[in-house]
Amino acid sequence: MLAGTEEEFFYRKKLNMHPNDPQLKSFIAVAADSDFPIQNLPFGIFSTHSNPALRTGVAIGDYVLDLAELERAGILQIAAHSVFNQPTLNAYIALGKTIWRSTRAAISSLLRADNPRLRDDAALRKLTLVPQSDAIMHIPIRVEGYTDFYSSKEHATNVGMMFRDPANALLPNWLHLPVGYNGRASSVVVSDTDVRRPMGQVKSPTAELPSYAPCAKLDFELEMAFIVGAESALGEPVSIDQAEDFMFGMVLLNDWSARDIQQWEYVPLGPFNAKTFATSISPWIVTMDALQPFRVAGPVQEPLPLPYLQQSGKNNFDIVLEVQLQPATATEPSTISRTNFQTMYWSAEQQLAHHTVSGCNLRVGDLMGSGTVSGSETNTFGSLLELSWNGQRPLTLADGSTQRSFLQDGDKVIMRGWCQGQAYRIGFGSVVGRILPALH
Ligand code: MN
Repeated sequence: MLAGTEEEFFYRKKLNMHPNDPQLKSFIAVAADSDFPIQNLPFGIFSTHSNPALRTGVAIGDYVLDLAELERAGILQIAAHSVFNQPTLNAYIALGKTIWRSTRAAISSLLRADNPRLRDDAALRKLTLVPQSDAIMHIPIRVEGYTDFYSSKEHATNVGMMFRDPANALLPNWLHLPVGYNGRASSVVVSDTDVRRPMGQVKSPTAELPSYAPCAKLDFELEMAFIVGAESALGEPVSIDQAEDFMFGMVLLNDWSARDIQQWEYVPLGPFNAKTFATSISPWIVTMDALQPFRVAGPVQEPLPLPYLQQSGKNNFDIVLEVQLQPATATEPSTISRTNFQTMYWSAEQQLAHHTVSGCNLRVGDLMGSGTVSGSETNTFGSLLELSWNGQRPLTLADGSTQRSFLQDGDKVIMRGWCQGQAYRIGFGSVVGRILPALH
């Protein structure tokens, strides 16, 4: 909470203005197409060349608001110890939803155009507002566990048609539970981290024996992910009605995938080395609170799921998603897919309820990938596997001649996402990764 009587008075006076209010304006100029208006306020971890300490920041327009400096100055003190002068957000997130909300309200108040506290203090502004171009972004959380779901019906159908049987593309369990697997936390990296092409075992369906080779079908998967914000007790399921209380926010996620390794290894326990070499996430965590105005109903679920997975109301989010591909030789990226998160069949709450139904416990900093987001049209697919139909229909990029079925060395993949409001957007920024050649 803001310290000092003047700020407290200001905050109380303005309590009727919710941080999501579209009328709110910041004293910092924010373009209409910026991902980071005052209604967003996503959390990240950054450093600068002049101050290499990793610390918490909130994105506003083209700036990062340095919460560690605000805390040090006594303007944003939410605990007896330092919460923001830390290399990850885990300690802050662990303080719980009441604190998330009061902190977001306090930051919103501090950035408002009609609040003089920071607006009129040039020294404090210089100390606490860092141009995003000067900020080095780091992974925002210590990832405790990483789970990846498979919740797009269109994606699961496409993969089933290619890898198994076109007539029975969806396996019998798919419409009854959100299929997922326990992924690898150690290789989750932040945007702009280069990704090494993996080596591994591959066997084409026609070959007699497997061979050891660089992955020849390297792919991305366009996903969103939510970050768990509260612990649950071992042995105690989280009900679907409580599920959202266990989510801090969401990021963009690229689940890099080695399709040739995957096709050989995945039976019967699911993906292993095909997915463990890297998973990239965007650096800014958009809070669940900031996403609330963009709730929409998901697809009708038929058959009706079992009672522990049943929910009513608006359980999906209207998030525009876009993928660009830029070869090393290209001057411009090519947009190769545009889709929307609201097409996902299973909701985040259903994923969380299903994950814990066995009694599996949650930890602060668990990362839960949605599964590849694919729409029903060809140009809305969320992976090259689908976009090129396993190499049968190579994509032609924007220059009119370069073709791609899978990723080549030097290729850069850029994913973006945003919720479009009236004259503002709640954006996720981007998750970017570039392919390095295999070590062999
Ligand atoms: Mn995936």
